[in-house]
Amino acid sequence: MPYNTHTQERYLVEEELIERVFWFITLRWITVAGICTTSLIAYFILNIGLPLIPILIIATCILLFNFVCITRHHYIKCISYSQYIKSHQRFANLQIFTDWIALVLLVHYTGGIESPVIFYFIFHVIIAAILLSRKACYLQTSFAVLLIISLSILEYVNIIPHVQIKELFPNLIYDNSLYLLSTLFFCITSLYVSAYLATSIANQIRKREKEIVILKDTITDAYQALEKKDREKSEFTYKVTHELRAPLSAIQSLLKSIEEGYAGEISEKAKELIIRSEKRTGFLLTLVKDLLDLVTGKIGKPREHDSKSVDINEAVKRTLHLMQEKVKAKNIKLTVNTTEQPVCLNIIPDDLDIILTNLIDNAVKYTQKDGAITINNYSTDDKIMIEVSDTGIGIHKDDVNKIFDEFYRASNAKAVELDGTGLGLTIVKNLVKRHGGNIDVNSELGKGTTVTVSFPV
Ligand code: ADP
Repeated sequence: MPYNTHTQERYLVEEELIERVFWFITLRWITVAGICTTSLIAYFILNIGLPLIPILIIATCILLFNFVCITRHHYIKCISYSQYIKSHQRFANLQIFTDWIALVLLVHYTGGIESPVIFYFIFHVIIAAILLSRKACYLQTSFAVLLIISLSILEYVNIIPHVQIKELFPNLIYDNSLYLLSTLFFCITSLYVSAYLATSIANQIRKREKEIVILKDTITDAYQALEKKDREKSEFTYKVTHELRAPLSAIQSLLKSIEEGYAGEISEKAKELIIRSEKRTGFLLTLVKDLLDLVTGKIGKPREHDSKSVDINEAVKRTLHLMQEKVKAKNIKLTVNTTEQPVCLNIIPDDLDIILTNLIDNAVKYTQKDGAITINNYSTDDKIMIEVSDTGIGIHKDDVNKIFDEFYRASNAKAVELDGTGLGLTIVKNLVKRHGGNIDVNSELGKGTTVTVSFPV
């Protein structure tokens, strides 16, 4: 059903009131238990001569009424939304109205105007203020006042017999007109003052609730607009990086050809410049590739392949093969611990390659000469684990949570390795999450880092 923001806001606030009606019903179960326990204790333990039977009958009636309320509450949940909202106010009014009657009967059977139960009217005024509008609350309070006045007068003129609780009130005072007037005065003013205070507070709360609903809508709109912008930005980045990748690869291989002498002899100086250019082009290609990997997930472009069962040991071997030169150049001691059996994971092979390349590449990049890297692959009952540990520069504890942010690079990493995009771990985390896995980093500055990736079997 389409409705404007104002109606939506009204509905949301009303919906909260409906929850409160349910709370009110729950409160009534407690009240019934309270009435039964208190009257039984008073009668049997304190030996107070209460008229037990009528009090227990009233409690049973409240109990039955509450069953009707809870059934109706469930029933109105099943009807159409607009009817549901309309029923709510009537339903709350009816419940408070019925409770007044039960309460006045209890007051009558526990000593009339002398009964301490009369204080409980104040609780109901507060509940009425929470559930109803200010006007409805005042109307309900007036109805309660009318009931109290009627009961007192009817008992005073002996139309209704006064129930005396001798143990509590040995001397009859219900027929003392001055006592009656003063008690009624304080009782009535207390009820109206309570109604005023409670409705004022309830109205303030409702006003705040409305403001929160409006604020929530504004934030949701702003968030959606941001999401749209982010998607447009990602799509633009995807197009640009896609277009850049081919010419950059071509430039890199042309530079390599010149460096290897396919275009004839070149001077040492020119060769050095070509090598530097090729390195920079290599970095640009990495950046373009990382950006492509990052935005491919964001704009939901389908990957080229479907998931299939991949042996992690084989994938690790493949990745290490591509990195053997870098590992050798730094004289890094490499250890791969794995099981005899293949450790198979259902994943898009390209995704696994991207994850392993980034993790192992980072370990190599951030480990000094003569360091060590250990790769552990194993499976438990419900998980497949890949652990890449190194004895490198480590990560400061303040940086550990930031390294998954786009473009974030810790200062110690920048100091040892100029070339880095700060995108690798963001991509890894996105891919791992997409396959239902988890990534965890344990690191100590200057000692080394262990990155653990786990996938559900
Ligand atoms: P890049 O390596 O291109 O900077 P990444 O997203 O792969 O980007 O990593 C982000 C940051 O996390 C790195 O800049 C570095 O500070 C830190 N980092 C990642 N792996 C390691 C590691 N094995 N050892 C130390 N620092 C690491």
